[in-house]
Amino acid sequence: MFEKHCTICGVEVKKDTAIKRFGKYLCSEQHAEEFVVREQQRQNEESRRDRRGGCC
Ligand SMILES: [Zn+2]
Repeated sequence: MFEKHCTICGVEVKKDTAIKRFGKYLCSEQHAEEFVVREQQRQNEESRRDRRGGCC
């Protein structure tokens, strides 16, 4: 059984058309790109936070 949903819009994705990014499924190239951008921004913010609060 293959039941996955687009991380951006929540639509059901099909095995043959699904796009996978960072372990998540996306319905289209457009949403895949959107998710990648979002994820990169999130990771940037997290690494900034880590550096700031990284003191022992
Ligand atoms: Zn989508």
